[in-house]
Amino acid sequence: MERKLASVRRIKELRPIKGADLIELVIVDGWQCVTKKGEFAVGDLGVYFEIDSFLPLEPEFEFLEKSCKRKMGNEVGLRLRTIKLRGELSQGLMLPYSVVERFFNEYCDNIRKIERNIFVLGADVTEILGVVKYDPPIPAQLSGAVKGNFPSFIRKTDQERIQNLFDKYSREFADNNEEIIKELESKNSNGEYDKSINTLKENRTLNVIKDLEFEETLKLDGTSCTYYIANVEQMNIKVTEEMEVIDNVYFGHCSRNLESKEGDSTPWQIARELKIKEEMHNFHSKTGKNIAFQGELMGPKIQGNRENLQKPAFYLFEIWNIDEQRYFTPEERMDILKSFTNIEQVPVLAEKIKPFQMFKTIEEILEYAKGSSIYHKIREGIVFKSTTLVKGVTISFKAINNDFLLKGGS
Ligand code: AMP
Ligand code: MN
Repeated sequence: MERKLASVRRIKELRPIKGADLIELVIVDGWQCVTKKGEFAVGDLGVYFEIDSFLPLEPEFEFLEKSCKRKMGNEVGLRLRTIKLRGELSQGLMLPYSVVERFFNEYCDNIRKIERNIFVLGADVTEILGVVKYDPPIPAQLSGAVKGNFPSFIRKTDQERIQNLFDKYSREFADNNEEIIKELESKNSNGEYDKSINTLKENRTLNVIKDLEFEETLKLDGTSCTYYIANVEQMNIKVTEEMEVIDNVYFGHCSRNLESKEGDSTPWQIARELKIKEEMHNFHSKTGKNIAFQGELMGPKIQGNRENLQKPAFYLFEIWNIDEQRYFTPEERMDILKSFTNIEQVPVLAEKIKPFQMFKTIEEILEYAKGSSIYHKIREGIVFKSTTLVKGVTISFKAINNDFLLKGGS
C-alpha cells in the first residue's frame, strides 16, 4: 500500500483570505491550501498533491520552480512543503484538470485511450504525473549495503495522515443507518436490496471506529528500521551463501524501502549489541513464530538528529505478525517484548484514548498533536494505533505537528 501523493479530490469549501485579491483558500478533505482566486468552485474535482510530493520539472509546474526547486540524491525536482501565505497555513497543491490534461492524454494514449475515466474522485494519479515521495537518501552506513527488495511478507512502515481519514470516519459514523437497514431488510424478500444493505452494514463496521480505543505514541523523526526473524522455507526466502541461516531460520534487516546485507552498518551493529539478533533467534526456536520488529533508528547524521542523541538508538513502534499478515495489538506486543531485554519503545503518550470521541474537528486533533518530543521542544507529531482489531487488522494513523512542518521538517 503506497501512499497516494497525488489524487483526484473534490473542493469541499472555499475561503477568502483577508487582504488578498489574487489568492484564496480551498479545503479538500482535512487539508487546506492556497490557490489562484476563481480557479475552483465548491464541488469541483481537481488533482491534490500532498506535502512530501516531489514533482518532476515539467512546464506545467514551472511556477513552482522559484520556491520549491530541490535536489533529492542526484535528481532535481519540486518539493511541496507546508507554508504560511498571508498568515494562512497552506499544505500541498490543488490544480485543475486543465493544467494536468497533457499527462492524462499521454497516459491514455499508452493504455489505448481509456480517455478520462481515470479522472474520477479518489483516483491515484501519482504515477501518471511522475510524482514520488520526497525522501532524502540516508548515508549508506545507516541503511546498510543493499541485499534486495523489501520482503513481500512484511508491511512497510508507512502511516496514513489524519487529514485523509478524519472526514471519512466522521461522516460515516454520523449516519445512523440502523433504522434504514431494518426497513430494507423487511422489504427484501427477493434480495433486491442486498447491495444497499451490505453497503450500510459496511458503514456500520466503520461506526466502530468512533468508539475505538487507540494507543497514542510519540512520532520520532529518524529513519525506518525493520528487524525480522523468519523460517526460510515457510516464507520462500532464497538462501544465498552470504546469509547466516540457523536451523532454517534467518534474521534480517531492512531500511525504509530495501533489505540490507549483514555487515558493519549501524543497524547491524545495533542488532548485535542489543542482542536483538540473538534474542529473536531464541524467540523463534521457542515459539516458531515469524515476526518483524519495526522502529525508528535515531542518532547522529539521521534527519538532523533533532533529539541530539550522542549515539545511534533503536526505538520500536510496532511488531508485525508475519504469519497472520497483521500488526500485533499493543497488548500482544508487550507480551512478546517480555522475551527481549534491551528493546526500547517509542514513548507511549496515552495507553488508551478515543480520538474520534475526543476531537470533533481536524483542527482540534492537529492542535493536540503539538508539543514537545523527548529532548526537543517541538515534536514531529503523534501516531495512533488501535488497541483492538477491526476486521482482523489494527488501524493506525499519524497527526503531524504543524509547528514542526513550518520550521522545515518534512
Ligand atoms: P513519515 O515519517 O511522515 O514518512 O511517517 C511514517 C513513518 O514514521 C514510519 O515509516 C516510521 O518510520 C515513522 N515513525 C516514527 N515514530 C513512529 C511511531 N511512534 N509509530 C509509527 N511510526 C513511526
Ligand atoms: Mn519520518
